[in-house]
Amino acid sequence: MRPTVTALAALALAALLPFAAGPAAISAAAAADDPFADARAAMVRAVALDAEQTAVWIGKSALAPRVMEAMGRVPRHLFVPPELQSLAYENRPLPIGYGQTISQPYIVALMTDLLAPEPGDMAFELGTGSAYQAAVLAELVAEVKTIEIVPPLATNAARRLELLGYDNVEVRAGDGYHGWPEHAPFDVIVVTAAASHVPPPLIAQLRPGGRMVIPVGSPFLTQQLLLVEKGTDGTVTSRQILPVIFVPLTGGH
Ligand code: SAH
Repeated sequence: MRPTVTALAALALAALLPFAAGPAAISAAAAADDPFADARAAMVRAVALDAEQTAVWIGKSALAPRVMEAMGRVPRHLFVPPELQSLAYENRPLPIGYGQTISQPYIVALMTDLLAPEPGDMAFELGTGSAYQAAVLAELVAEVKTIEIVPPLATNAARRLELLGYDNVEVRAGDGYHGWPEHAPFDVIVVTAAASHVPPPLIAQLRPGGRMVIPVGSPFLTQQLLLVEKGTDGTVTSRQILPVIFVPLTGGH
């Protein structure tokens, strides 16, 4: 099948690039011969339209340009199972195996925008999954630390990120509820599984002035996407953004 062959070529190209080439360089090189370029541009337009249509919830009608640019660079077709590549740029979640999903592009873009990531930031993600969200963040911050509870997903995610040249992301298999204390504090934290509450270890590992985005509510029902902010004086406030549906946070904690 043509898309599969081309995807392999894109991976091979990424693997051949010099070690020093960063993610942006690789994306640009891959884009030169990328049959998914038009589909990806259409996905970015769909995300922009969703932002416009949800303006009343998100308090603005457009997401940050650097977030939209990152969405336009990350090759989502290389983060989904090969048999679903033709659907990779639809603005919808897709299964990635083990009962898990890669989030809808609009939700990834919105969560990233709410984090207001800065180039020097240290980021933490709970729920690596396919590593798509991690890759989008990696385009925008200095370092991403991400934890996945399903070991084979963590292994595949690490391999994928390495092939694509995302050398500023570190993946660990384990229960992300406890954060990653060795790398704390984090400027931004994103939780991509539905939690019943905001995990206290993550609040503790958020830098004063930092932001966390997390879906909170009952698993399998609708959750509220929360933006949690820690003031420079340590005061924590949270704001509901919009209803979302995520796979549940698991693990014994
Ligand atoms: N961010 C992912 C979406 C992942 S779906 C992407 O861009 O593809 C949520 C993921 O969270 C699943 O892979 C699930 O296995 C993982 N997860 C659930 N509970 C977890 C926990 N306690 N610690 C770490 N990962 C967890």
